[in-house]
Amino acid sequence: MGIKPISMRLEIKEGVRNNQLIDDSYNNDLDGLKLALPLYRRYEEKKKVLIISDFIETGIAEEELYRQITQLIENQKIEKIIGIGAQIERNKHHFKQIHTYSTAESLIESGDLTGLHDSVILLKGARKFAFEKIVNALETKTHCTQLEINLDALQHNLSYYRSVIGTNTKIMGMVKAQAYGAGAVEIAKILQTQGIEYLTVAYTDEGVHLRNNGIYSPIMVMNPQVEEFDKMVSYALEPEIYNFSLLAAIDEYSTNQNKNIKIHIKLDTGMKRLGFEMSDIPKLMDELNQMPQLWVVSILSHLAASENPKHKEFTLYQINQFKEAAQAISDRLGYKPLWHIANSAAIQNYPEAHLDMVRLGISMYGISGNSVEKNALENVLTLKTFISQIKNVAKGETVGYGRIGQFEEDGKIATLAIGYADGYSRALGNGQGVFEIHGQLCPTIGSICMDMCMVDVSKIKGIKEGDEAIVFGGKIQLGQLAKSAQTIPYEMMTSISSRVKRIYIRE
Ligand SMILES: *Cc1c(COP(=O)(O)O)cnc(C)c1O
Repeated sequence: MGIKPISMRLEIKEGVRNNQLIDDSYNNDLDGLKLALPLYRRYEEKKKVLIISDFIETGIAEEELYRQITQLIENQKIEKIIGIGAQIERNKHHFKQIHTYSTAESLIESGDLTGLHDSVILLKGARKFAFEKIVNALETKTHCTQLEINLDALQHNLSYYRSVIGTNTKIMGMVKAQAYGAGAVEIAKILQTQGIEYLTVAYTDEGVHLRNNGIYSPIMVMNPQVEEFDKMVSYALEPEIYNFSLLAAIDEYSTNQNKNIKIHIKLDTGMKRLGFEMSDIPKLMDELNQMPQLWVVSILSHLAASENPKHKEFTLYQINQFKEAAQAISDRLGYKPLWHIANSAAIQNYPEAHLDMVRLGISMYGISGNSVEKNALENVLTLKTFISQIKNVAKGETVGYGRIGQFEEDGKIATLAIGYADGYSRALGNGQGVFEIHGQLCPTIGSICMDMCMVDVSKIKGIKEGDEAIVFGGKIQLGQLAKSAQTIPYEMMTSISSRVKRIYIRE
């Protein structure tokens, strides 16, 4: 663990003038070019443009190198090639047609880029050629507050948990509450593609939404309503049954419909939320025995404090209570339903709780209180906004509502396009929260407004309106920010409002 490779990320971006950008601007070697060229095929209807820099440290003599490069791109029907750097300029004669420039800046100044439209533009440049400037000149500025969800990181985290639990334990992906704000359909899709065995939502309508969007994995519903049984059954959603009245209702429904129905039995081993109490078990077994048309797919319980070693004894007690009760019920049923009790924290902290299935929620996003686990996981979520305006503030002037933000000396503020209506808590005002701008941490000043907030950027040089401000996911961890807001990552994630655009990234 520990050292991670530098992100070699390839980004597909919308460009200006109906261009599509394939931004692979972190490396330029032959293999990278070979891998990137097939991406052109996704955009058959567009003109192909290639922007490349000198190839550095290839270990191949220039003549041979450029013979190979031109061979690679020969059959690609590329309409325009732009080269950046002295080496490529020297080797111009290898190409049928190429425009060369010594630097990214000179290309931008030339105006050559403004002639590009309706094209798919592949950018491959060695780091020192600063292709981000070219990308910047070509990409559509989104200028909105956005939550980036890195699907590769999510996939990595899922694989990590697969390795921790081994092949005999299944995973149930908790995608309730819009998959903790990350977007239920997209997250469910990637989990489904990764072969997740079960998904769980809180309410029937969340399950219906998934079914209407291509999710065919089994789905458990934690809060089934009796009036919705029809809907549940027609969308193949499976109710969690947590008390005798629900059990009687589902029994009656299945008898009336003359249908076998899959159910999940929830036991309360100490959480004191939903579930049959331990003292209910004998009666529960008797009743289930009379309801052969109900098929108990799983038996579950929920841990109250698996993240906290202080409550280890209680957690072990819950696990044991659960195993005993689940054993008794299974014996009586005459078949073995899936047993599950572990949430994210318990996967790492209580291997004895893995059982037949674990319920993975927050940690699929790379969030964990366990340091070993945290190092093994990758960050999935990055929330970004931008600077709407920059202002100088003189000594003694105040900032924002209630005149709470005070400047002791002359300074500078940036107004950012995020406020409490986006999910940026008012508790983060007056320096409690920080934003990352140009790699530096800038504290909030004054109160957080509904759609905006102000940060102190007195010490930050070279920033301008439109620049990005990272809320969390870069230097600022979601966990830290949640702490500053006196809450937990779960609440912070699920509070990100629906007007914040969700962007899904693949590296
Ligand atoms: C939300 C939820 C989970 C997932 O919890 P995490 O801490 O996010 O892993 C597991 N089980 C139940 C019953 C839940 O409601």
